[in-house]
Amino acid sequence: MKVLVINAGSSSLKYQLYDMNDESVLAKGLVERIGMDSSILTHKPTGKEEVTEVSEILEHTTAIRKVLDKLVDKEHGVLNSVDEIQAVGHRVVHGGEAFKSSALVTPEAKAEIRRLFDLAPLHNPPAISGITAAEKNMPGVPQVVVFDTAFHQTMEEKVFLYPIPKVLYKKHHVRRYGMHGTSHYYVSRVAAEYLNRPLEDLKIITCHIGNGGSLTAIKDGKSYDTSMGLTPLEGLMMGTRSGDLDPAVVTFVMNKEELTISEVNSMLNKHSGLLAISGSSSDMRDITDGLEAGEPNATLAFEMYEYRLRKYIGSYAAALNGVDVIVFTAGVGENSAVVREKVCENLTYLGVEIDPELNKIRSGEPRRISSANSKVEVLVVPTNEELVIARDTLRIVEESK
Ligand code: ADP
Repeated sequence: MKVLVINAGSSSLKYQLYDMNDESVLAKGLVERIGMDSSILTHKPTGKEEVTEVSEILEHTTAIRKVLDKLVDKEHGVLNSVDEIQAVGHRVVHGGEAFKSSALVTPEAKAEIRRLFDLAPLHNPPAISGITAAEKNMPGVPQVVVFDTAFHQTMEEKVFLYPIPKVLYKKHHVRRYGMHGTSHYYVSRVAAEYLNRPLEDLKIITCHIGNGGSLTAIKDGKSYDTSMGLTPLEGLMMGTRSGDLDPAVVTFVMNKEELTISEVNSMLNKHSGLLAISGSSSDMRDITDGLEAGEPNATLAFEMYEYRLRKYIGSYAAALNGVDVIVFTAGVGENSAVVREKVCENLTYLGVEIDPELNKIRSGEPRRISSANSKVEVLVVPTNEELVIARDTLRIVEESK
């Protein structure tokens, strides 16, 4: 079966086409600047040359049509006909409490995703645009939705509730949901497989650190706690997001600076984190370059980032009453040896010891970076959220037959 995976953002659409017989990627690509002038389609067919096309793409329906055209294109295509695509899987950020796992797209499922717009105003509306666009372009092809929040639905009430008036949970569903669930799920499974140990026997802390970042404490293969909350703002210091702070900072700053709700939201989501402290960049590559050059602002940004990450690892070791495996994944986790080194340098009390040489290797494969003496296995596992979406899509479509 060939499965098309779609990840729709407000002005972008990423795609990957899988042949599920061997889980190979036939093509992948990205449409950027949807709704703006000069939209860009970058198409990468496996084994053929990458192609970039600039045109006007006003909405997601046209974006998907252009992608399908490329997939069957004589020169750049990988399919004879669009009919070869037998299912479509969509990434959806927020599944609220309604979706504890992936689901077939039905009118009810779409209505539920729409009800969740309030909780994910930036993310769920584009997902609906992507679904509608796929339905229009590929009528009759089954579609599946896979949620970032679903893996974390196993969190207990004591973990997911905020200590605020309970009426807010009842009326407005204010609670912790967590994000990046597909990635935490995937890398924890790969880690257990790599170590050749039963997943259920392992206490795992997965660190998904990219532009956004979250940690998950995994017990019995299930998400026990995770660092993101109602929205992706809670938890770690990130590229442009503050992560945890005293909630009173918000009202204090709003008052002093006469900021509106949207201004303070923008400050905490887009102008904080590494960017705010370094004063120059949200990209960990620039921050570590600055650190090496002894640049004081970049050094402070790095130290704060590492310290906050390490505190979370410590708190999850407490939550799990120990830790057997720490997994690093996503842009920073997979690529930044210095972040991994500095974090682990200060986790010796847990018995963590990494091998500096193993830590330097870059392979794109799951690998161990802890030394033979380490009491905790420390792994780098490249994440693959698209593959999880493709697998779930295949499973759900087969089950629904
Ligand atoms: P997103 O959260 O947008 O999915 P990614 O997981 O792709 O992001 O991570 C992107 C981030 O990864 C970049 O902003 C950059 O900070 C970081 N990154 C990528 N390569 C490196 C590297 N070689 N060294 C340090 N950081 C890196």
